[in-house]
Amino acid sequence: MTRIASHRGGTLEYGDSTPQGFAATANMPLEEVEFDVHPTADGAIIVHHDATLDGTTDRSGAIAAMSEAEVRAAVINYGAGAHPISLTELCAIYADSAVDFRCEIKPGVDGRPYENFVPRVVETLARHGMLERTTFSSFLVESQNALSAATSRPRLWLVSPPVLRQLGPAAVIELAKSRGIPEIGVHVDTADSVLMAEVEAAGLDFGCWAAHSARQIEKLLALGVKVFTTDRPSLAIAIRNRFRAEAEL
Ligand code: FE
Repeated sequence: MTRIASHRGGTLEYGDSTPQGFAATANMPLEEVEFDVHPTADGAIIVHHDATLDGTTDRSGAIAAMSEAEVRAAVINYGAGAHPISLTELCAIYADSAVDFRCEIKPGVDGRPYENFVPRVVETLARHGMLERTTFSSFLVESQNALSAATSRPRLWLVSPPVLRQLGPAAVIELAKSRGIPEIGVHVDTADSVLMAEVEAAGLDFGCWAAHSARQIEKLLALGVKVFTTDRPSLAIAIRNRFRAEAEL
């Protein structure tokens, strides 16, 4: 059965990357929690979607230019007053959960990978016993290379609609194989059975991201993709339960 990944801890149900969203996801009957990481100026690792606080909190500024204390002081929009948390805290929330990590390596505000960041993320996950429960993802080919150098954990390449359109499926598959990337994730609206068959015929796993509506979730369950991320984990669980019940009839 298709795996469900609660994107940013279920943004549309709990706010962006909130402690309560992550705590709720830890107790849900799904397989993965997706989150993004950014470094602070003083060496902490913060779990937040954007590289800046501008769009998702009451503060502004680049996380990488701020101290951990400054980032923590921000109040997350629609987050019931909650503040951003560190990767260390996220590890504590999931220590006893059956839900595994899907950690996305994000670029900084300039679109470039953070300097020497991936080894620090890997080390932090390992120190808190979560590395063996982590799959990594990134849109950046450079970050894929950094991941392959730092860890043997599974990783997937997030392929944006413009990249998929410009390169075409064959070149995307070729690039993934040449870099040793075992899985490709595409936007739900660019997924179809032809693309999925092409990716799987090349020996790669096929997943999707951004399935936030019932229609999008139903599409991916019907296709039978390996995994998808969603901002609405409770909705995805309910629809998957319905699919399961129908399959048993
Ligand atoms: Fe992400």
